[in-house]
Amino acid sequence: MSIHAPVNPQKVPLYADVPPEDWNDWRWQMRHALRNAEDLGQVIPLERMEKKGMEESLQKFRMAITPYYAALIDQNREDGPIRAQAVPNVLELVERPSDLLDPLSEEGDSPVPGLTHRYPDRVLLLVTRVCAMYCRHCTRRRTVGQEDSHGRPEEIDMALQYISSHEEIRDVLISGGDPFTLSTERLESILSRLRAIPHVEIIRIGSRTPVVLPQRITPAFAAMLSRYQPLYVNTHFNHYKEITAESAQACANLANAGIPLGNQSVLLKGVNDCPRIMKKLVHELLKIRVKPYYIYQCDLSMGIGHFRTSIAKGEQIIESLRGHTTGMAVPTFVVDAPGGGGKIPVMPNYVLSHSDRHTVLRNYEGVITTYTEPDEPYSECHCELCREASPSQENGVAGLLQDDRLSLEPTVLQRRRRNGSS
Ligand SMILES: *Cc1c(COP(=O)(O)O)cnc(C)c1O
Ligand code: SF4
Repeated sequence: MSIHAPVNPQKVPLYADVPPEDWNDWRWQMRHALRNAEDLGQVIPLERMEKKGMEESLQKFRMAITPYYAALIDQNREDGPIRAQAVPNVLELVERPSDLLDPLSEEGDSPVPGLTHRYPDRVLLLVTRVCAMYCRHCTRRRTVGQEDSHGRPEEIDMALQYISSHEEIRDVLISGGDPFTLSTERLESILSRLRAIPHVEIIRIGSRTPVVLPQRITPAFAAMLSRYQPLYVNTHFNHYKEITAESAQACANLANAGIPLGNQSVLLKGVNDCPRIMKKLVHELLKIRVKPYYIYQCDLSMGIGHFRTSIAKGEQIIESLRGHTTGMAVPTFVVDAPGGGGKIPVMPNYVLSHSDRHTVLRNYEGVITTYTEPDEPYSECHCELCREASPSQENGVAGLLQDDRLSLEPTVLQRRRRNGSS
């Protein structure tokens, strides 16, 4: 299949007679999502045993696959990347000792329901538990896909109240679930209330609909979003086979409306844990004006152990990209720290050694070079921002570099104090 070929519903007998106006309607796609083994069996060949395992896994984490995404499944392969992400697997029932219910401690850092305030200046706002397609590798499986429900209006009111009373919040990241499964009116009401808060500088939305329900991103919808600029959309492509004429059009509609696009992939065993696949993915993303932002190490959520790779695999992928291809194509590989430590970047070592005089570095080709340090490297900063700043304003390791403290022993973290649970 060539990458930009439109998905052809005619290939699937179940969809052969669907009129294009239905097929291209996101509401139709959502209403006709495949939700059990019986339905799925009409789209892809399923063995009886497979169906049984699937029904069992569905007790723990439900299934929903849009007809569009189902039609993208390779009928001739049991181990294709689309299928692995969408179709329940009996391995989801395996619980490993290292599995955690809330590995990122999003609830531990949650001052009000549906809101996580982990970093000093930005929050994560979860507005729904609904997704168009439930990814088998979902990190939020403890809430997402457990019940099909959007955030309750009272919950959203409380979260917006929290944001408006915390002036340090300059960045709000709207996620879920998938925020683009909300009606346009409901999403617009959240956006306009956020925009009315003077200290909210930027809004970011994470949505997988460009990948699994590209019909959602109509020009009218993109125009609505563009009224709340500066607004960024991050999507979630994991494999170049997800880039189709439809998903490219969805991204074009957003980009044409002036909305910058980023991508967050999850490193998944058997799906994209290969430097060649990742390189092709990041190239295809730039062609549709999407900037690769993060690659996440698969976290320790329950029942996704079969998707995990070693951290070394992510480092190897970065090694294969940096220098070898366009710098803009290279995402940051991050491990989201269990226990709520946030995203920690991991990359190969490029600094080999140091002296007072020289730093020895190596490049992607293996060439070793030296950089000669300035004679007097230390100088105090006198910029106007530093002159105005009060001492010890800087937190964490960055603070150690700026003031006279000798050591850092975090006892009460700022984020714990914020949530009153030291
Ligand atoms: C990922 C995340 C953010 C945003 O992180 P950036 O590195 O700024 O993209 C904010 N809050 C929480 C809780 C997150 O998990
Ligand atoms: S789109 Fe995101 S929140 Fe929804 S199931 Fe996939 S990973 Fe989970």
